[in-house]
Amino acid sequence: MWPLILAFFSLLFLSPFGNISAFATPQVKLEAPATVARGDAFVALAVSDEPVTAFNFKWMGKSYAATAVAVAQAPDGTQKWQAVMLLPVPLDAKENDFTLSVTPMAGHVGGKKPAAVQQAATLGIGVYDKDRPVQKLTVDKKFVDPPAAQMERIKADRELVRKTLAAYTPERLWTLPFERPVPGDVSSLFGLKRVFNGQPRGLHRGLDLRGTEGTPIVACADGRVALTGDLYFSGNVVYINHGEGVFTAYLHMSKILVAKDQAVRKGEVIGLVGATGRVTGPHLHLSLLVQGVSVDPQPLLQAPRADGGAAPRAE
Ligand SMILES: [Zn+2]
Repeated sequence: MWPLILAFFSLLFLSPFGNISAFATPQVKLEAPATVARGDAFVALAVSDEPVTAFNFKWMGKSYAATAVAVAQAPDGTQKWQAVMLLPVPLDAKENDFTLSVTPMAGHVGGKKPAAVQQAATLGIGVYDKDRPVQKLTVDKKFVDPPAAQMERIKADRELVRKTLAAYTPERLWTLPFERPVPGDVSSLFGLKRVFNGQPRGLHRGLDLRGTEGTPIVACADGRVALTGDLYFSGNVVYINHGEGVFTAYLHMSKILVAKDQAVRKGEVIGLVGATGRVTGPHLHLSLLVQGVSVDPQPLLQAPRADGGAAPRAE
């Protein structure tokens, strides 16, 4: 049973280069992909033979607590405790130290600081770059040079999103692969260098999926609605907190069908496709935010259905 469980999680790692693992002591095991592209997130798995309440993952200078979950007993009666964690490699990650470490902890997660019970396990991860082409778009000029009167609103929107993403809950509600929020294929890839009306405006930090006005949008995973509203650039948005620092955001909706703090299930309808905010037409912009960093949702999404088309096209 236990090797089957490990094999199952290995399937989630999505790296074509295979996984690497490390043991700090006979009790702690850490698994992660050998290499990850800038702009992608990766899955790390920590397993302990000893009962622990949490694992503390350390990555790029920050620590993230994950609640440990007791997993099914092996045929010989032994039980294991584990956590599955998503961690980001930012598009602009510059540092050379990509060492991942995990420490199993005892005591409460949150409130009281848990104590380390075993030595940390560490892994070095190879980071590489993907090609990020340029995409030229034409939008209403108020979205390229917003009127001065809108600057306060844009600032307030940014602050609201920052606060929303700062709420960290150590219990994992997400599972992979993420449900496709709309059946349509990709119309614009993550990480494209964008030029609006001839002016460079940073990178596309989401994935655009095709969908006509009114197409139902479903939640990528279980979670709790963390923010709903009408933002200047994003239009009508829903942010969902999936736990362990993982959020998804659904932009440009014509209609929002959930309320803040509402619990949602994977596949539940949360809104309808629209063309609100900075858009060239109706579509869904999906953002995946992992530990506050925008990463490419595409490698973690369920494959498109045969009738949804598969070939990504830039438009
Ligand atoms: Zn987009």
